[in-house]
Amino acid sequence: MNQPVSTAWPVVLSIAGFDPSAGAGIMADLKTFAAHNCYGVAAITALTVQNSQGVASVHPVDPQVLRKSILSLLSDGRVKALKIGMLNNLATAEVVGEILESNPDLPAVLDPVVRSSNDFGLLDASGLKFIRQKLLSRVTVVTPNLAEAAALSGIAVDNLESMKAAARKLVELGARAVVVTGGHLDKPIDVLFDGATMEAFAGDRIKPDNTHGTGCTFSSAVAANLALGRQLRDAVVLAKAYVVEAIRQAFPVGPGRIPLNHLYRMVQPVRVTDHAPAVAETAH
Ligand code: PLP
Repeated sequence: MNQPVSTAWPVVLSIAGFDPSAGAGIMADLKTFAAHNCYGVAAITALTVQNSQGVASVHPVDPQVLRKSILSLLSDGRVKALKIGMLNNLATAEVVGEILESNPDLPAVLDPVVRSSNDFGLLDASGLKFIRQKLLSRVTVVTPNLAEAAALSGIAVDNLESMKAAARKLVELGARAVVVTGGHLDKPIDVLFDGATMEAFAGDRIKPDNTHGTGCTFSSAVAANLALGRQLRDAVVLAKAYVVEAIRQAFPVGPGRIPLNHLYRMVQPVRVTDHAPAVAETAH
């Protein structure tokens, strides 16, 4: 007998920080998963206090709680990919290291968040060292921006050549694949290196450019595409296209930075007349 075709959305787990303004972190990740027909679940590494104008403080979650939370979600047995975002400190990074070690076949995308765009530190030095020494080699792909690529590789990264050099260095350090995202360059370009092939994907600078949460969104879109069964290159190409359109359709929600419009694909208006109930009785 033929197996019924599953129409269930793949489950994707985000292990990341909580941004209450919903532009970055877990909430951006969940919206991105939803926009890709994936069901998002989440384990919070740290709460942040922030609004459109930037991060004011960071409050890590107890690593034991984080571990229990991740194990509980994984024990449901449906998670098809992981997205790892802000880790904040060594203890949190170590929990994630354990999880990756015991789930080596789960596709995992690491966004090595170091600082917010208003220059608030989101990862301590020992956490960064642990990412470099232990996490890079345990994930499917790592997606640093220019500053994160520089922090991890020790190379100043500000143009295409140095992006490629940093990508090569991260593979030397153990990464299986790297995407250095160059959204902050005058001519935005992303570099994908899988240890064999180096590709650069060009794009046009699109307004607005003071966007918030692009790194979180890009890495989540890659994770969603991997959960859907796509190859890494296709996942990266599609994630870039999604981020570009989500920036193009972004709108301000406060006086500061502009979050991406993660749900731009959800454009059908709801009309009450399409949902008229069968009226059994009307009493006056
Ligand atoms: N808050 C959280 C929870 C994040 O994960 C990040 C970045 O990844 C930020 C804030 C910073 O976002 P931005 O770089 O847009 O300031």
